[in-house]
Amino acid sequence: MSEATLTVDLDAFAANVAAARSRVAPADVMLVVKDDAYAHGIPPVVTRAWEEGVRWFGAFDVPTGRAVREALGDEPRIFVWLAFGEDELRSVAELDLDLGVGDAALLEEIAAVGGRTRVHLKVDSGLHRNGVRPEEWPAFVERAAQLERVGAIEVVGVWSHIAEASDADDDAARAAFDLAVREAEEAGLRPTLRHLAASAASFARGEFRYDLCRIGAFCYGIRPAGGPSDAELGIRPIATLRAPVVAVDGDSVVIGVGSLDGLPSTLAGRFDVETPAGARRVTRIGGRRSSVESWPDAAPGQLVQVFGREAAASATDLAELIGTIGEEVALRMSPRVPREYRGS
Ligand SMILES: *Cc1c(COP(=O)(O)O)cnc(C)c1O
Repeated sequence: MSEATLTVDLDAFAANVAAARSRVAPADVMLVVKDDAYAHGIPPVVTRAWEEGVRWFGAFDVPTGRAVREALGDEPRIFVWLAFGEDELRSVAELDLDLGVGDAALLEEIAAVGGRTRVHLKVDSGLHRNGVRPEEWPAFVERAAQLERVGAIEVVGVWSHIAEASDADDDAARAAFDLAVREAEEAGLRPTLRHLAASAASFARGEFRYDLCRIGAFCYGIRPAGGPSDAELGIRPIATLRAPVVAVDGDSVVIGVGSLDGLPSTLAGRFDVETPAGARRVTRIGGRRSSVESWPDAAPGQLVQVFGREAAASATDLAELIGTIGEEVALRMSPRVPREYRGS
């Protein structure tokens, strides 16, 4: 185990969830919980989200969907969009998951499993990251309508994913999406769940919200690199990485965290941690130990806030220093770092 700890403030998480829900209303929030809830830990996060009124969870793959089902029981709707082979498709049916389907072969496979799985048909609206291509879409929705009529599946949604990098590209994707929804309706489908946007477009652009917004990053308080501030978005980081002072060595203090815990070594010399005496620069990042500029009365056992909610820098602040995104910094946190939860 690491000497560092990641403390997740569940009240802060609840506040971000509330901000997201009120921002996108009357659309619903689907809380995205892939990658172990962006490395915050599934059970406490989904339990609190459910208490706060979240009814949709975006689980990416079947194992994650299973973890959410085990944590919350039968009621929540759980959307997965990666499932392979008969065993996993059987699990989708048994766990009563909603399945995102972006290719014709998978549509046949899920229909063959039986169980009348609820499916959300995915159109490729320009990102070319799977999804049925627009020229193949009319035949795809025809076939889906046939399968629905014979009771093999239930088509509840149409969805796509957008880059959220430029408004012009997103507008083009939205036009392709609207056309795909119309074509699905012309084929006789009645998809009541249209979803296109993740955090950024959900918050910034009302016309992208449709019925459901798939929101991960902003609920965890991870703002976009180079984008609007936490204050502008009305969110706050929810996790704090803490490390103990393990030695004091002249004008250097050694803390118990390093690159093996997930702290990028390229950050050495470039950011400040929060010490009992205020901000101090990190001068070196080793595997399990790092060095920080000293302060008066520094002593082993004192705690330093490395990054996050109670620190000087957030995950995205650090990401911007090394040319990446906040999710990358958050997701690097090793499973060796114990997670701790605070909040009512
Ligand atoms: C990860 C993901 C999201 C959530 O994205 P954020 O930017 O974290 O809100 C939404 N939809 C899909 C398909 C995703 O893979």
